[in-house]
Amino acid sequence: MSWLYDDFHRDREYLERTVAFFQRHARLVMHDPRRTGGGANFLLPRSARRGDLLFTGEAAGFQDALWGFGMRFAMVSGYLAARAVLGNAPADYDRIWGRRLSGHLRAAMVNRSIYRHLGNRGYARLLQEIDHFMRLRPDGRRWLQAYTAPKLWKSLYFPLLRRKLISRRPSPDAGKPGCDCTWCRCRHA
Ligand SMILES: Cc1cc2nc3c(=O)[nH]c(=O)nc-3n(C[C@H](O)[C@H](O)[C@H](O)COP(=O)(O)OP(=O)(O)OC[C@H]3O[C@@H](n4cnc5c(N)ncnc54)[C@H](O)[C@@H]3O)c2cc1C
Repeated sequence: MSWLYDDFHRDREYLERTVAFFQRHARLVMHDPRRTGGGANFLLPRSARRGDLLFTGEAAGFQDALWGFGMRFAMVSGYLAARAVLGNAPADYDRIWGRRLSGHLRAAMVNRSIYRHLGNRGYARLLQEIDHFMRLRPDGRRWLQAYTAPKLWKSLYFPLLRRKLISRRPSPDAGKPGCDCTWCRCRHA
């Protein structure tokens, strides 16, 4: 599996290079490989509601911006939406998810922005830090919890960051003619 954050039209080439790397360095052998791909979505929405229609999980943009963790956000927001619907108060949903999730979503965007600026070397440092922690305590959940938790300095930094956030998502219009990347294939279809 490989993730792309940019340059989506060259996804086939990057996938081939990733597979070649693991074949060379980790002796990866794949049986009956099948190509599959898709897009992920994260954002901090102003609202996750259209009238009485409540959006949860990735449809609302709830996902960790650095690593793409979205399962817990999906389950928690699903639970919160169900409670709002059962309580006959769909209008409360935005306030409820905001209180529970927005701090984590902001923290994730700040984390991502930091590692974007630090580049590959910064990311390598982060992986070394995780490796070091895991050697001391094999249960990595505490590290992850501390790393992804909302913090005051992240909340203060977020408004500065938000102004610079631009979507890297390719245009939703028809794909580039002749392009076979995942995004364009879906558009052509
Ligand atoms: C390769 C990969 C690895 C990942 N690894 C992790 C991980 O390790 N940890 C983690 O936390 N997250 C991970 N994620 C992210 C996580 O899987 C998603 O964020 C999470 O599953 C989102 O849940 P969801 O319910 O919002 O959406 P989905 O899981 O996408 O569920 C949406 C469902 O709705 C269905 N659907 C869509 N449109 C319609 C329609 N019109 N009618 C009926 N049904 C429809 C879809 O078929 C799908 O089954 C990973 C994602 C990918 C792609």
